[in-house]
Amino acid sequence: MFRSHNCGELTAANINTEVTLSGWVQKSRDKGFIVWVDLRDRYGLTQLVFDEERTSKKLIEQAQNLGREFVIQVTGMVIERASKNPNMPTGDIEILVSKLTILNESMLPPFTIEDKTDGGEDIRMKYRYLDIRRNPVKNSLIFRSKVSQEVRNYLSNEGFIEVETPYLIKSTPEGARDFVVPSRMNQGEFYALPQSPQTFKQLLMVGGMDKYFQIVKCFRDEDLRADRQPEFTQIDCEMAFVEQEDILNVFEGLTRHLLKEVNGVEVEKFPRMLYDDAMRLYGNDKPDIRFGMEFGELNDVAQHKDFGVFNTAELVVGIAVPGGNSYTRKDIDKLINWLKRPQVGALGMVYSRCNDDGSYKSSVDKFYDQDDLAKWAEVTGAKPGDLVCVLSGETNKVRAQLSALRMELAERLGLRDPKVFAPLWVIDFPLLELDEETGHYHAMHHPFTSPKPGQLELLDSNPGDVKANAYDLVLNGNEIGGGSIRIHDKETQAIMFKHLGFTEEEAKAQFGFLMDAFQYGAPPHGGLAFGLDRLVAILGGQETIRDFIAFPKNNSGRDVMIDAPAPIDEQQLTELSLKLNLKS
Ligand code: ASP
Repeated sequence: MFRSHNCGELTAANINTEVTLSGWVQKSRDKGFIVWVDLRDRYGLTQLVFDEERTSKKLIEQAQNLGREFVIQVTGMVIERASKNPNMPTGDIEILVSKLTILNESMLPPFTIEDKTDGGEDIRMKYRYLDIRRNPVKNSLIFRSKVSQEVRNYLSNEGFIEVETPYLIKSTPEGARDFVVPSRMNQGEFYALPQSPQTFKQLLMVGGMDKYFQIVKCFRDEDLRADRQPEFTQIDCEMAFVEQEDILNVFEGLTRHLLKEVNGVEVEKFPRMLYDDAMRLYGNDKPDIRFGMEFGELNDVAQHKDFGVFNTAELVVGIAVPGGNSYTRKDIDKLINWLKRPQVGALGMVYSRCNDDGSYKSSVDKFYDQDDLAKWAEVTGAKPGDLVCVLSGETNKVRAQLSALRMELAERLGLRDPKVFAPLWVIDFPLLELDEETGHYHAMHHPFTSPKPGQLELLDSNPGDVKANAYDLVLNGNEIGGGSIRIHDKETQAIMFKHLGFTEEEAKAQFGFLMDAFQYGAPPHGGLAFGLDRLVAILGGQETIRDFIAFPKNNSGRDVMIDAPAPIDEQQLTELSLKLNLKS
């Protein structure tokens, strides 16, 4: 028996019992005649005491030679501590050790294994197994496990079946590059790792599994933006014989269940917002609605004066910054410089101060009088004491820029409280999206998404206007899930492929299996997938997903612990009939 108790559970109630504990040496304090050691395991810390008067000299020497992170087993008596530590669950007691066994020694760890460590990100990634011993990472993994468990509880109760789908497949079109795996047995041929199990879950619906879910790894070879991982986890779901309303209700239920069970938070019915409204009011398809600062479009009130910049702009749009009139000229200049950085790319910003006496003072007073500025305030909802910030230009760009400004200011104003949860469904996404570079349309969600009833005809005349039965679940300004009602007949699917630029042969070669399946009684179906890593991070009140992943990759997609990716040896290349053609 390695342990009778764990290191987090002993309290005053256990005083005078003999216990055996196993764990790691967190740290020790050596006073010569008395030595204290903090023993750690997954459950907590327990203080051990070795005392010349009460235990043997030999035992004290043994304790004095313990290094940090040694793995030990001790047997001893639970006693009351002389000086108690109310901040520790085990702070009332200590163990008077009578027997110490070293189970394994440890090299000196490259960083301190404490909540606040001296180790930088890189070194902690290299020794991730040591980082996992630290509370912040350990607790994040435990938290993630709880979320996954609750997902399974909820969906199983709703009658969902958990089905695994293969990882060695053919390309799935989720808009990224595939990771590919060469096949030894089929020389010259490659598998692709799934960007998601999309086609398989649809085939499960054809197979009659009318409620499917899976907690599943997905792989996308994208240029890594901050806080993205090349492999990530989805809660992937699909249902047959459902309409959009059914799906929204079931997964709103799941999200509400998680918020309640994991965070102890009850939320009202989730609001729904049209994609077009989200873009108009927040410049963004995943608006953070924990705070207001909605956009006010100012074309009607700011154009046709003598200010050329606004007159030639497609969109003039502003937000009211609560209390922003207190910003000094210097603060505002800094804000303008922030907006002009290439990451945001605005050309400048016009502003109007809303004074407490009801008057206005703007950066464009030459062109706008008090009545004009009063209208700006009215449209943006500004009150005395606020600052109206106005941007202008090409609609999509200017919306993105103002959205960035809104989020930045909200952050600075402390309006993005991680303890407040504001879920939101964004619905009626466009079916297609124009790729500015190529001039081609591609599927905004994926090619299996169905257009809204009666809109198929629009595909020829106004492809950009066609709306889809597609929806996203947004939580605190993050897209945590998205899905759609699918096309379930071969003809419509063929029309979609054609509009996405596939020839008939290409569509058949890539998705023939799905089109074939649709000829054998495919039921109406739809689904969605949640990004589990991000969902867990948000529920855990954190901005980054890395701590919630046991073995994450770094920003260049490397696992620095196992040193992957790595070259393979000649022998493996020969077996696969592959030759490298590296550009030095
Ligand atoms: N496969 C989709 C995705 O990964 C989700 C869905 O449509 O169900 O985003």
